[in-house]
Parts: sequence; structure tokens; C-alpha cells
Amino acid sequence: MTPRGWALLALAALAAALLLAAALLIPWARPLAPRADQLAALRTLPAEQVARGRAFHAALRPGGYGALAVGLLVALALGLTPLGARLVELAGRPFGDHWVARAVLGGLAVVLVADLLTLPFSAWRQSVLTRYGLSTHGWSGWAVDLLKSYAVSAVIAALALLGFYTVTRLAPRWWWAFGAAGAAGLVLLLSFVLPVLVEPVFNRFTPMEPGPLRQELVGLAARDGVPVRDVLVADASRRTRAVNAYVSGLGPTRRVVVYDTLLREATPAEVTSVVAHELGHAKDRDVWAGTLLGALGAAAAVVALYLLGSWSALLRLAGVDSIAEPRAFPLLLALVTVVGLVAAPAQALVSRLVEARADAHALALTGDPATFEAMQRRLAGVNLADPDPPRWEYLWSASHPSTVERMAAARAYARETGR
Ligand SMILES: [Zn+2]
Repeated sequence: MTPRGWALLALAALAAALLLAAALLIPWARPLAPRADQLAALRTLPAEQVARGRAFHAALRPGGYGALAVGLLVALALGLTPLGARLVELAGRPFGDHWVARAVLGGLAVVLVADLLTLPFSAWRQSVLTRYGLSTHGWSGWAVDLLKSYAVSAVIAALALLGFYTVTRLAPRWWWAFGAAGAAGLVLLLSFVLPVLVEPVFNRFTPMEPGPLRQELVGLAARDGVPVRDVLVADASRRTRAVNAYVSGLGPTRRVVVYDTLLREATPAEVTSVVAHELGHAKDRDVWAGTLLGALGAAAAVVALYLLGSWSALLRLAGVDSIAEPRAFPLLLALVTVVGLVAAPAQALVSRLVEARADAHALALTGDPATFEAMQRRLAGVNLADPDPPRWEYLWSASHPSTVERMAAARAYARETGR
């Protein structure tokens, strides 16, 4: 069998594995959140809060979709015309057209162009966040965060580009197999190592002061069978007024992280409710499931790109001879961008199902639907959520059930259990 035959076989196997993993790992049966309860919950929210949340999202929308459209257009313009290949050549020229310069500098140049052209939209977003009082760190803080995240992405991208184009050179016929394994490994690395390495770049963490809340949270985790080593407080208030909490790390390194803003804004019982949700993610191994699905998807994508690479019309558009050369990187990026856009609603759906399960976990663990609902109301108020967003936007991009859905789930739980 030819490498191409093997690639077709590998793609079929990966697709089957992906479907199987999705069927087994995604909690398809979502907890009840009847629409009647949603509407009743909506009526209990202050009208002013609802209006403010809606106005905030209306203000963000043009910039958000503008960034999406420009990002797509730039990716297509660079990938489906010889422009991108020209840019890669240009980046390699000062280094005698060496392939490493083309692969790494050329790749970074292409990404940088896209980043710079969408930069005005990021600034727009920041200005809206500031206007609505959600961002607290000012333009200099915003710029520093932006540069830090560019730096982190550039390091990761440079390593990935170097690794990928080394493999395409060393194994011109079989690179897709190594590339698929490498992409899966990269997803694994990024989801487990990155948080630990990157979190400290953006935030400072201090152990929570001993006291009743800390004791309650550690006890809650132990009772849940998800022991944590520590409860940390992140200094999120440096940049935002938004509140959040999460569980990170695995096994012996697992810790609960609570935003200092959450401690300031919410009652201890509400903080407990938020942490109970986060423990649900840890208990159900949601990070593992997400990583496995992501790794299978990434591997399948590499093989699919290899197979697409024999489509000569596509190569002609991009002005390249082979999909495996650095000059074809803009073409790869264009294809990945399009696939990412098409896959966004599916990703959002999976995320919402997983979040709804974590909510159900929080309700069962605390047995306190009233506090859960109060917490949702508070979260929506502080984070300026649209409690019942437009349907199309919800289906396209919502990573969490809406506020009224989460409140309705608490009401349904209360009815079911008589609490
Ligand atoms: Zn969650």
C-alpha cells in the first residue's frame, strides 16, 4: 500500500476513534432546565441588570464579528493566493533562503500579519470593557498582557513550526504520520503543562488565608473524593472586575484557584457553590476528555491536510509545489481557520453539555439550589452576562448554558429533590 493509502486508512481509524470517544465521553443527556422555569427566572432578575448585560454584549458584537471576518479574510488572502508564500520567502531572504528561516520566521510573519490586522478589534473590545467598568488595568496593562500573550504564542508557534518542517524534510512521504502523532502530543502538552507554566505569567497566586471558608472548600473537595493540595487566590482584580474560579493540576498537584474578585463580590456560600461546580470538572475528568478529543481531532486534521495537499488546484492557487514546504504554511493556516469556524458550533455544544453536568454536580454536592441560583444571579450581574442571549449567538459560540438555563436547572433540581 502507498503512503496515501495508509493515510486514508489512518484518517478513517481516527475518525472512528473520535466518534467513539465523543459518544462515550460527552454527557449527551443534559439535565432538565425547562423553558418555563427559564422565563420565570428571567423575571426575577432586575430589569436594569438585564438591560445592562444586553447593552454590553450589543457593544461588543461588531468588534467580535469584525475580528472574525477580518481574521478569515486575511487567512484566505494569504493562503489561497501566492501572497502568503511571497511573505514566507521574504522572511527567509536575509538568511539566504534557509529552510529554517522560512519555516520559523516565515510562519511567525504570517501569524503576525493576521494578529496586527485584528489588533484594532482587540482594542475596541478593551475600550468597551473599560467603558462598562469590567476592565480595571487600563491601556498600559492591556498592552502588557497583549505582548505577554504574543510572546507565549510565538514561542509555542516557533517550536511547532520547527518541529513540523523538520519532519516534512526528514520523512517526505510519511511526515503525516509523525505530524499526526506530534500534533496529538502537542495538544496533550498544552493542556496539562501550559496552565502550570503560563498562569504565573499573567497572575500572582497566594494561598488562601486559613479560616472557615478555606476549611469548608478543602472539606468539600475531600467529601467529593477530589482532594486538593491547596486553595489559592489569584490577583485577577489587577485587570478585571469579573469573577471566576477553577481547578487546575492533576492528582498531587491539584489545586483550587479562586479569583480575589469572587471573594470580594460573593458570599462564602456562593464561593462554595462555584468551587463545587469546578470540582465537578475535576471529578468527571473533563480536562482529560477534552484533551483526548482534541488530540484525536488534531491528529485527524494533520492527515486530512496531507490528503488535501494532493489537490493540485489548491496548490496552484497558493503558488506552491507541495503542501509540505514552508511556503505552503499560509495555505495550511487558511484551511485550519475555515475548519475552526465550521467546527465552532459543535465545540460550543460539547462545552455547554460538559458545563451543565458540572452544574448538576454542584447542585448534588452542595444540596443547596437556592444558593446556586443566587450565585448565578450574582455572576451574571458582575460579569455583565446577557442572561438569555439571542438563540443564534448561543448556538454559535456559547461555552456555558445561559444564566436563565442554569437557574432553571437549579429550580428543576429543587423540585425533584423537594429542597
Ligand atoms: Zn465550568
